[in-house]
Amino acid sequence: MKQGCLIVVSGPSGTGKGTVCAALLSAHPEIAYSISATTRAPRAGERDGVNYYFRTKAAFERMIAEGALLEWAEVYGNYYGTPLPPIQEKLAAGQDILLEIDTQGALKVQERFPDGVFIFLLPPSLEELRRRITGRGTESEESLARRLAAARDEILLGKRYRYAVLNDTVEAATDRIQTILAAERLRADMDSAQFEL
Ligand code: 5GP
Repeated sequence: MKQGCLIVVSGPSGTGKGTVCAALLSAHPEIAYSISATTRAPRAGERDGVNYYFRTKAAFERMIAEGALLEWAEVYGNYYGTPLPPIQEKLAAGQDILLEIDTQGALKVQERFPDGVFIFLLPPSLEELRRRITGRGTESEESLARRLAAARDEILLGKRYRYAVLNDTVEAATDRIQTILAAERLRADMDSAQFEL
């Protein structure tokens, strides 16, 4: 059976990864979503086991020790990590799976899954990024400043991705990602070609 596609959407905080991924998943219910574990507190409306697995620091450290995470990173003072077993199961079953993670994590995933589809989402500008993070109203002044400083460094890492997608509007960004996925699904895989010579 053909393996599923590992799709990684990454980019600086506030680029709109969450919104674009939600739009993509609602258009493509066949794509599974990788639910990350985190030590940060849930925001209003977020649910354990849906948006994230919200864990204590001790429980998170146990997951690291047991090798249960494909990658993990400390982002803005909290731990975030990608549980490995669901990814292995989905890919082996031929299902595509989407990871929405930060740039440090994406580069680690690249080492282990070099054939993954790595997509870097870009904000139209740093000014627009500031507006988006401020507009969300969830960050303190200190956290905002930290996220903006990190964004500059992260954008420099964009060169290491196969694809860069501008998130000017959610619709346009989602369309671009759908085009990428359509092309990736057409990549030559002669082992599973369905014809006889
Ligand atoms: P937020 O706190 O806004 O939900 O996420 C903060 C940052 O952590 C975002 O850039 C998000 O993509 C990233 N993130 C979420 N889950 C993971 C994960 O499993 N691993 C890594 N490395 N980053 C993650």
